[in-house]
Amino acid sequence: MELQENLKNLCLFEDADAQVVTFALDVSQAKPPHPAARSHHKNRLLNWMGSNECPMAIRKILWGVSGRISLFIEKELKPETEGLFLVAGPGIWQPFELGVRITDFSYVGRTPYLAPLLEALTRMPRAYVFRFDQEEGVLEEVWMGGRKEIERIPSTAIERDAQHQMSRHSTRSQAGSGRSAVRTGGGGRDRFQHCVEHAVESMLHKAADKVMTLQQEAPSKSIYAFGDRKHFPFFRDRLPASLRSQAIHVGPVPHRHDALLAASIKEQQDLRVRNRVEEDISEFQARRAEQCHVASGPEGILPLLHTGNVARVFLDPREPLPGTKCTACGKFAGEGGRQCEACGHVLVVTSMTQEVIHYALFHPSVFLTFVPSGESWLRDLGGMAALLTAEHIHSRG
Ligand SMILES: [Zn+2]
Repeated sequence: MELQENLKNLCLFEDADAQVVTFALDVSQAKPPHPAARSHHKNRLLNWMGSNECPMAIRKILWGVSGRISLFIEKELKPETEGLFLVAGPGIWQPFELGVRITDFSYVGRTPYLAPLLEALTRMPRAYVFRFDQEEGVLEEVWMGGRKEIERIPSTAIERDAQHQMSRHSTRSQAGSGRSAVRTGGGGRDRFQHCVEHAVESMLHKAADKVMTLQQEAPSKSIYAFGDRKHFPFFRDRLPASLRSQAIHVGPVPHRHDALLAASIKEQQDLRVRNRVEEDISEFQARRAEQCHVASGPEGILPLLHTGNVARVFLDPREPLPGTKCTACGKFAGEGGRQCEACGHVLVVTSMTQEVIHYALFHPSVFLTFVPSGESWLRDLGGMAALLTAEHIHSRG
């Protein structure tokens, strides 16, 4: 997958002079071609760089890239972009235009800081959208905040037209012969209705089969269906059991109001992501209450990463958690250290949050949960918490 490779490459990028700028900018308010867009964002950039919370050395680095950022916003930003994330510095320029909002943030260091980007990506997971009526079904893919059509599946119109003709013919031929004509005509309509029914069902089955194929190439987190509730089970029940729980009947198709459909999908996505984060946090809290397979703080978690016993790490994406790392043996140490306790080599400043992200991107067995910024329970645990695998406990005897 292209994105995943891109993220890995960014993790590996290092600048010895620590001049890599990571920038997140909420551009949902004013966007080109909005005439005020350019000055609006430029002013925000300048305000931030001029503020006291930004040290002089970092301000200089930010100034160095601010022109290019302004130009990008003016010339290249897509109208549908809600959040801009970018990594800029000597020999690197990598913007990401996101379909969701992102809180303003900046970080300057030896490496890019990817937490705000990864957090935003969790809010736009891949989903399939299926909307249907009696005429056809339309399958779409939602990803990275965008929506694109994959396939239109007609509900076997030819067969139905033939049936329609026949029913009209039989009604007409017996017109004027009283009640029996009505009954026969009714029979024709029944057959017609039955045929439509059959066509719709078979279209729904085809759509479910297509979703199943799509899942093998690009797995989704959710499948949203818009259409009448009565027919939805024909689609859902055709899916294999593993996918059935993903399929949600959202409601009828909002006709000719694409914005309503988009808003409805976004609402569903947000809800699902929020629920998932809450479930992860509850699991952690429950395990923590029993002191069962949990770890906390960078000093408790980072040394465990390489053991393969860390299952899930909870991070605050806007909390880079400064620390140091040995250039020779890779051992982590606290903030302010200069020499590695293990091998005596030089320590370099790093972000502990980014170190976890780096590890997780290269080791898919480690999952990440991004906790909403400023939650006190996470701060009390040193800004980072983890669920461990059961093997860790067993290996300790
Ligand atoms: Zn060392």
